[in-house]
Amino acid sequence: MPDLIREVGRRRTFAIISHPDAGKTTLTEKLLLFSGAIQLAGTVKGKKGGKFATSDWMDIEKQRGISVASSVMQFDYREHVVNLLDTPGHQDFSEDTYRVLTAVDSALMVIDAAKGVEEQTIKLLNVCRLRHTPIVTFMNKYDREVRDNLELLDEVESVLNINCAPVTWPIGMGKTFRGVYHILNDQILLFKSGEGRNDVSEIIEGLDNPRLDELFPLEIEQTRMELELVRGASHPFDLEQFLAGSLTPVFFGSAINNFGVREILNALVDWAPAPAERDATSRAVAPTEEKFSAFVFKIQANMDPRHRDRIAFLRVCSGQFERGMKFKHLRLGREIAANSVVTFMAQGREQVEEAYAGDIIGLPNHGNIQIGDSFSEGEVLAFTGIPYFAPEMFRIVRIRNPLKIKQLQKGLQQLGEEGAVQVFKPLNGSDLILGAVGVLQFEVVASRLANEYGVDAMFEPITIYTARWVSCPDSKKLAEFERALENNLARDAANSLAYLATSRVNLDLTRERWPDIVFHATREHA
Ligand code: GDP
Repeated sequence: MPDLIREVGRRRTFAIISHPDAGKTTLTEKLLLFSGAIQLAGTVKGKKGGKFATSDWMDIEKQRGISVASSVMQFDYREHVVNLLDTPGHQDFSEDTYRVLTAVDSALMVIDAAKGVEEQTIKLLNVCRLRHTPIVTFMNKYDREVRDNLELLDEVESVLNINCAPVTWPIGMGKTFRGVYHILNDQILLFKSGEGRNDVSEIIEGLDNPRLDELFPLEIEQTRMELELVRGASHPFDLEQFLAGSLTPVFFGSAINNFGVREILNALVDWAPAPAERDATSRAVAPTEEKFSAFVFKIQANMDPRHRDRIAFLRVCSGQFERGMKFKHLRLGREIAANSVVTFMAQGREQVEEAYAGDIIGLPNHGNIQIGDSFSEGEVLAFTGIPYFAPEMFRIVRIRNPLKIKQLQKGLQQLGEEGAVQVFKPLNGSDLILGAVGVLQFEVVASRLANEYGVDAMFEPITIYTARWVSCPDSKKLAEFERALENNLARDAANSLAYLATSRVNLDLTRERWPDIVFHATREHA
């Protein structure tokens, strides 16, 4: 199947990650602009998780429409098919973000060079590092006063624990930002704001070119000095180390001015990996295998308010998806005839005609698909690595109208499966406990319960410090543990047993007392 090899080889699937406000939305738009996927800046509807006030999130239907158009985008660039996955910037949605990272082959990290490495970037990078995801770095906002270049690299290396290989180097900053020096090509790209797709920056060959001394003597002298230091102190670009996730090529620029963006796209196409094989428990699945396979990494409910349907986002792992083909939903052993599968373009959804490994397709369903589910043409596969994270915030659910208990249960089950919140049923009693990574998740769930399920729910605080999923190779021991600590144990939406610790001390003590029980801070989809 030479076609399959070609199609897989020209795919690049990456996530764009950053701390809120670093410029992710702006850069996304410019990437689309350069690729020709959109014609004019300003057409990407900013999702901007970071800046939405809570009230915006409450406007659920509106928010749905916006985030769907922009959370997965496919476009062509230089004979390649690029799948760009946006990640919610707001820390309260970090679980969703983490799962997006399981569906990509590389990541683009955007850093605000005036601020340096920020908290959310650290969290996201930790997840990338666990998976050895190759990272490309963009230092943004050089049209402003930013921090010292060497200090920035040093911070990335020490805080994020990844080696930096500067590929370009900035000349000046703020009002005296002159452009970047391309270290590998020995070329200077002059800064010009607002470059369009077909505009090319003026290029001056060679760092020692006397024209540079005429144009901006001060800045170029400074750059030459810095580069001497950089050559001694940093790492040269090395493709193997990049692919192993231990070294990141670093680019400098200004997203809002379209400057330095083309270099990023080229780096992704030239260096970032095509889809690789994936572990499916029984065996590894190669992307070029003829048979279709995929897994779900994200579910979004009720995107179309008229249909109340849910879209499962599938990452294709192998084979060729063709419109109308039949495949199997493995957890339920059910055949699916996929007639209305959609793909996501910059401007909205379209019917998918065909898709290959690395592509993201959307499968509408009525709530029977869960995050982590695998699909194939029949072979039993279970793609691994889609994590649930131990929540750090908990609420107990109360409803005003007890007659609505059925709707409440249904709503919470669906929202739980979708990953909007984690739902725990204590072994004792009939309460429901919600766990979240961020507090905003509770507000979204309350609002969705009201709008989509007609349930008026209140969430009250409860003293739980954290949850740990528990397991034990010895089933007798586990049963003993279950009996003894009944009051602290609950089952989650996937029926996995979790210990709800009231404090850190309580967790430590329980661990000490029950040395045979394993406490897990993450749970992989069962
Ligand atoms: P996000 O939260 O990471 O998606 O960030 P946005 O793309 O929304 O950008 C946050 C703010 O930074 C916005 O006001 C942008 O206009 C601004 N911004 C983005 N890129 C640049 C840049 O290159 N230079 C300057 N000065 N501002 C920028």
